[in-house]
Amino acid sequence: MIDLNHGSGCIYGTGAPRPPIAEAVSAAIDTALTARNRAERPRTYVSSSGLGRDCLRQIQYDFLAVPKDDGQGLAPKTLRIFEAGHRAEDIVAGWFRIAGFDLRTERPDGRQFGFEALSGRFKGYIDGCFVSGPVAMDYPALWENKALEASSWKDVVKCGVSIARPVYAAQIALYQAYLDLPNPALFTALNRDTMELHSELALFDARLAQEMSDRAVMVVQASEAGEWLPRAATGPTAVLCRGGMAAGKWHAPCAWASRCWGERP
Ligand code: SF4
Repeated sequence: MIDLNHGSGCIYGTGAPRPPIAEAVSAAIDTALTARNRAERPRTYVSSSGLGRDCLRQIQYDFLAVPKDDGQGLAPKTLRIFEAGHRAEDIVAGWFRIAGFDLRTERPDGRQFGFEALSGRFKGYIDGCFVSGPVAMDYPALWENKALEASSWKDVVKCGVSIARPVYAAQIALYQAYLDLPNPALFTALNRDTMELHSELALFDARLAQEMSDRAVMVVQASEAGEWLPRAATGPTAVLCRGGMAAGKWHAPCAWASRCWGERP
């Protein structure tokens, strides 16, 4: 009820000043997304999606769910991008299906296909598997899809996934090995800005798969023994730690840099 008593400060016909609608809506959504993210249980296994990162110590921090440095948690904007990328998979899968591909993306119970090793401490979930289709290629074939911003997408188109995004190539090799899908995988990259779709075949790289699998074993065994794996940098000013371009490759700032270099050795 509006308080019109003398001294209330209320001026008839005016309400409390409101923040601009764009800011108010974004703030409400960001608050909800952050709360939802905080409520999710931390991962308790080594994920195939990050094993190709340069630094074993960083992979170990992630596996052990070591709290990230202040301000390094996922920003609401990043949470939105992740969710959009996840949903982009459904869009691209739909395109394949109307084009006549038999693409399997989930089990009858709705769960994703994937693998578990090391008593559940190493896991990976695939985007899908092509069983047949109108395009001449070897079936069955693993499907891996990424939604990328325009500049990353152009890098992948220009250089191929194994050069432009080795972390994705490592993930693909692991899936091919653990799901016994040695035919060339079909990798697709969706340009988030233009919705252009890039497709390429990724040959099975058994050496890479073995190397990544060995890394997972190292991370789990060292963590169980209470040992830290080596850092991939010699000081906190390394591009790998503080972020930036090095040798034509972009590195995001490490989310554990303060912890890592504040707790030497
Ligand atoms: S700060 Fe650098 S050395 Fe330490 S975990 Fe991160 S990337 Fe590795």
